[in-house]
Amino acid sequence: MPELPEVEAVCRKLRRDVAGARIVSARLLRKRSPALERAVRGRAIAAVERLGKNILLVLDSGSAVRVHLRMTGNLYVIPDLRLRPEATRAWFALDGGRALILDDSRALGVVDLLAPDDLRRLRDDAGIEPLSEAFTLEAFAALAGRSRAPAKLFLMDQTRVAGLGNIYAAEVLHRARVHPRRPMNRVSRRKIDAVRAAIVGVLNDAVQSACNAYSGPGRFEASETFPLGVYGREGEPCPACGRLVKRIVQAGRSTYYCPGCQR
Ligand SMILES: [Zn+2]
Repeated sequence: MPELPEVEAVCRKLRRDVAGARIVSARLLRKRSPALERAVRGRAIAAVERLGKNILLVLDSGSAVRVHLRMTGNLYVIPDLRLRPEATRAWFALDGGRALILDDSRALGVVDLLAPDDLRRLRDDAGIEPLSEAFTLEAFAALAGRSRAPAKLFLMDQTRVAGLGNIYAAEVLHRARVHPRRPMNRVSRRKIDAVRAAIVGVLNDAVQSACNAYSGPGRFEASETFPLGVYGREGEPCPACGRLVKRIVQAGRSTYYCPGCQR
């Protein structure tokens, strides 16, 4: 599943490709949506925003098309609508003949229309965006101090910090040397600082890696170079201390951590 860094890479490319473009017509192929298809016709894409793992095509009408890529989705521009691949689940024909398509082999991706009020509510309800200026140490420490959730689950709660999935939550805690089961409000202030810095550091590294891998249209290549310290490495030595990486299950998901570094 694409995590925040891959979604950010998709958005950065879309900002170059479609910001300002006008939508001539649109079609959702899995389940038609006359309201959406009507609302976007003739509208310009004023901005491409990312909110957690949602991609927002904000229209000049103030409404927005929300796309969630889910498991296998990808959103990109092709030079001609007629060249769309078989797994196209939605298309937006753009002026000049190009098309923005949702290519999604498993067809689990979501495309819907947000009225200006829906858009405002989505923004208000979202957790802090970790790559934004709002993600200050004070704001993060305040959130952490109010939560008794285990650190790993706290990081994955999208209503607190938006966009951290299973892989990066594990890597953040490893870099910050925090045990994934430690209640968040019992993590020391020094380590809270370290967790915040690790979130920003891990995500920036991962966005860079995803942008490099996402060079052409289509899928991410296997060339993503983000080095994983613990995720998926059960029984292998920790790159920092050499102890063997352990796997536990939290809320039904695997958590990988180093019993040497993370206490
Ligand atoms: Zn270690």
